[in-house]
Amino acid sequence: MMYPVRPLLFLIALLACGVCNADWHYDKQAIMGTEVHLQFWTDDDSKAAEINRAVMDEFRRIDAALSPYKDNSELSRVNREAGKGEVNISPELATIIDKSLHYSDRTGGAFDITFATLGSLYDFREGRKADMETTQALLPAVNYRHIALDQQKHRLAFKDPRTKIDLGGIAKGYSVDRAVAILQSFGVQNASVSAGGDARLLGDKRGKPWLIGIRHPRDKSKNAAVIPLENTAISTSGDYERFFIDGDDHRVHHIFNPTTGQPTDTDANSDGQSPEQDKLISVSIIGPEGFDTDPLSTSVFVLGKKKGLALIEELDNFEAIVIDADHRMFFSSGLQQ
Ligand code: ADP
Ligand code: MG
Repeated sequence: MMYPVRPLLFLIALLACGVCNADWHYDKQAIMGTEVHLQFWTDDDSKAAEINRAVMDEFRRIDAALSPYKDNSELSRVNREAGKGEVNISPELATIIDKSLHYSDRTGGAFDITFATLGSLYDFREGRKADMETTQALLPAVNYRHIALDQQKHRLAFKDPRTKIDLGGIAKGYSVDRAVAILQSFGVQNASVSAGGDARLLGDKRGKPWLIGIRHPRDKSKNAAVIPLENTAISTSGDYERFFIDGDDHRVHHIFNPTTGQPTDTDANSDGQSPEQDKLISVSIIGPEGFDTDPLSTSVFVLGKKKGLALIEELDNFEAIVIDADHRMFFSSGLQQ
C-alpha cells in the first residue's frame, strides 16, 4: 500500500512552521531622551514588525506631545500660554495633569510638576543650575496649587504667570502602560517594555518570571538587586541618571524638592535639611501600573525614607525598595519575607 508521503510531509512542515513562527522579538530605540526597550512573544511572526512599529510609534507620539525640548509640543505651547489665561488642552494631557495633581495632594506637594519653573533652568549635561537669587525669586511660582485644571472642559491656566510644568516624573510610566495596551490589542500576552527607569511587564517570560535589575546607584557595572516579577509595573528614581557634581562637591541631579526649588539633597555627608539616614539615592516602586509607580518613585525619593515608606504602606498594591545615602537597602513590609 502506498502512503501519500508528499501531502503528509507538507502537513508536518506546516505544523512545525506554526511553532517556529512563534518567537521572542526585541527592539531598542532612543526616544524621550532615554532608551526604550521592548521584548515580546508572538505566536505569529508575520505580525511582529507591525506590533513593534505600533509600540514605538506610540512612544514617539507621546514624546511629540509632552516633550519640554520640542517647541511645537503641546506641553511647550501650554508653558508659553497658560500663564496668560485659560487654554484648551487635549483630553490626554488633562488626564496626565489630573493624575499629577492627585499625587501632589497625596504627597503634601512632594510630587509637583511645577518644579519645572526652576527645573527648566538646569542643564545636567552642561553643568548649569539656577543661581540662588533666581531660585528665591521664582520659588513662589513653584506650587501645584497654581494649576487650574478643568478636567471636564479640558481647559488649563496657571495662576502665576511664571509657572511652568514638566511631566518627566510621570510621562514614561504612562507610556509603558500605553505600550502594554497596544501589545494586548494585538493579542500579545508576554512582554516587557521599559523607558529608562520605568518598566511594565505583561504576563511572565513564558513559564518563568522576568528578572528585573535595580542598578547600584554608585556603580554602573553592578546591580544592587535583581527581582523576579510578572504582570506588574516597576519604576526607579535615582540621583545617578542625570546629574553633575558642582564646585562644592555637591550632587546636582534631576529630582527636585519643590519646597526648596532645588535638587533633593542626597549628599552622604552634607549639612542638608534631612537627617542622613533619611536621605534616599534610589527608589523603586512596584505596583499594577506605571501611571502610578512612576510618580510614586519620584515622590518617595523627595519624601525621604521615613515619610516615603509610610506612604507606600498606606497604599494598597504598592511595594518599595529604597537605598539610602549610606547604600543600605530597605523594603516595604510586603517584600520583607
Ligand atoms: P526618570 O525615569 O526620568 O529617571 P523619575 O521618575 O526619577 O524619572 O523622575 C525624575 C523626573 O521627574 C525629572 O527628570 C523631572 O522631569 C521630574 N521631576 C523632578 N522632580 C520632580 C518633582 N518633585 N515632582 C514631579 N516631577 C519631578
Ligand atoms: Mg518616577
